Amino acid sequence: MATPLRAALGLALDVALPPLCPSCREPVGDNGLCASCWAKLSLIAPPYCERLGIPFAYDPGPGVLSMQAIADPPAYHRARAAVRYDEVARTLVHSLKYGDRLDLAPTMGRWMARAGGAVLAEADALVPVPLHWRRLWWRRFNQSALLAKAISNESGVPIAETALKRVKATAQQVGLSQSERAANVQGAFRVPPQGKPEVAGRTLVLIDDVLTTGATLDACARALLRAGARQVDALTFARVVDSTRAPI
Ligand SMILES: [Zn+2]
Repeated sequence: MATPLRAALGLALDVALPPLCPSCREPVGDNGLCASCWAKLSLIAPPYCERLGIPFAYDPGPGVLSMQAIADPPAYHRARAAVRYDEVARTLVHSLKYGDRLDLAPTMGRWMARAGGAVLAEADALVPVPLHWRRLWWRRFNQSALLAKAISNESGVPIAETALKRVKATAQQVGLSQSERAANVQGAFRVPPQGKPEVAGRTLVLIDDVLTTGATLDACARALLRAGARQVDALTFARVVDSTRAPI
């Protein structure tokens, strides 16, 4: 079939068919998860570690930090996430990233804005974790930038568009150990000269889809702090809570 015709038919099909739930493929009324998959997502809520946002099994009282936050504190000040990275969350993240389900970004961004409310209230600007230009060209969009746009719409916090650049094309973090991940992203991010005014003296919130070991966000935060940022927090859609049970 000639490409323009196929494109036209594809477009017509998109308009005619109701959107599908990205997790179970059942038709849904609006864009997002169906009610039963929504119920399966595990939202992250307090009590959690004030710094890392890792949920506590019991409430130890306000301001208590996890052992991990004390033993190995990251460069970012606080991390918050909307949901645990489990099978349903993974389907959503992959649908946005690889499945051309860009329509999911506003819903995911809304949940992130809610989970990161306290962090966003103090923020001067959002900084999406950048892709290397070659990967951006290949994939055509940056999922973190889409999420940042949705969060900006919800919260009114502007996006610092030129704050951070990925200067090194890194290998995918999937399948790497914690120390390999840290080595992989070392020196990968830089604040370009034109980005300095968006960074110096400001409180910034890094935006990404998933926090796994935090190595990427840590490398980004280091680059921003080196360029004079006052404070850097991190907000992701999902985070790995129990690394032994997380899906890849
Ligand atoms: Zn579903």
